[in-house]
Amino acid sequence: MREFGTTVFATMTRLAVETGSINLGQGFPDTDGPEAMLGRAVEAIRGGLNQYPPGPGVPELRRAVSEHQKEYYGLGYDPDGEVLVTVGATEAIAATVLALCEPGDEVIVFEPYYDSYAAAIALSGAARVPVLLRVDAGRFTFDPDELAAAVGPRTRAILVNSPHNPTGTVFTREELASIAALCEAHDLIAITDEVYEHLTFDGVEHVPLATFPGMRDRTVTISSAGKSFSVTGWKVGWVCAPYALVSAVQAVKQFMTFTSSAPWQLAVAYGLRHEMEWVAAQRASLSAKRDRLTEGLVAAGFDVLRPAGTYFIQADIRPLGFDDGLAFARQLPERAGVVAIPTQVFYDHAEYGARYVRFAFCKRDDVIDEAVDRLKRL
Ligand SMILES: *Cc1c(COP(=O)(O)O)cnc(C)c1O
Repeated sequence: MREFGTTVFATMTRLAVETGSINLGQGFPDTDGPEAMLGRAVEAIRGGLNQYPPGPGVPELRRAVSEHQKEYYGLGYDPDGEVLVTVGATEAIAATVLALCEPGDEVIVFEPYYDSYAAAIALSGAARVPVLLRVDAGRFTFDPDELAAAVGPRTRAILVNSPHNPTGTVFTREELASIAALCEAHDLIAITDEVYEHLTFDGVEHVPLATFPGMRDRTVTISSAGKSFSVTGWKVGWVCAPYALVSAVQAVKQFMTFTSSAPWQLAVAYGLRHEMEWVAAQRASLSAKRDRLTEGLVAAGFDVLRPAGTYFIQADIRPLGFDDGLAFARQLPERAGVVAIPTQVFYDHAEYGARYVRFAFCKRDDVIDEAVDRLKRL
């Protein structure tokens, strides 16, 4: 693991604190999740739910996840054996890759990719094979031929993140169908990171890969409460997959963490059952924030790619006279009192991401406005 130092998010957040900058780097909201859901966690603690919950997760949450998949996507999962609660999506991803991939295997990832993917794949001993997302018609997308060319005899799995961090792309049905077709043709497992499933804008729909013909049986669907309910510090995630896959993932999970915090699991079960209107309102509010920050960044001189989902914006720094996002992001706290993430850190081939920095817009309006005022001084 020597090549994996401190994550860029920790580094940039520390820089923000040290310089008193506005942190539009790390993607955590600065407002709380639904009040009643927070109350459920407190009640659970006061009510004595403070010992180890069952390894697969508290039954209430497994049932709530199963109902959620049915209601939103028409996908049926048995809460006893096809749903596993994890310590956030991060553990779900790591446990899944460790369970299903071995030294010599290859895992396809879309580049730029969320940083934990490379680490999880490295821990498993497998090799990552990146497929580039290129900008076409104002959004990041992939070339289906390049994806097909990345599949080889050792390919074990494709890791798919949609809505996609850090680009804000939401894969279309056509894009997903091309991934599904490859999985079917080459007998691959799909591992899907859907933590932004409820954060899409302009009527763009999130379609789980597991809903495509034949895909439910070969897909490990992963999500978590952090992004949907603005509780990123709770770290409650889950896996939905057929029995055999879930039991393999659970075999790994039991030795990583065994189980996770009971009070938060109960509270998230409540959230999934009773706070989806709050999530819908949150989505509308984030859509307005996206517009607010987009307009502000354009006014400050950036070229902006309008995201269809997540809470991140990719801004092209070239119109401001820069071409190295890493140097730009390092100077930004000092020069403007704002922190952004250099997009190139999400790449194996940094040169493709050099011109972009990522700004998060899951912040209060006054924080966004102040950041924009500062950036206009650049
Ligand atoms: C935030 C994030 C995660 C981690 O989710 P947790 O539930 O906090 O572990 C995983 N994948 C992506 C793409 C994310 O943005």
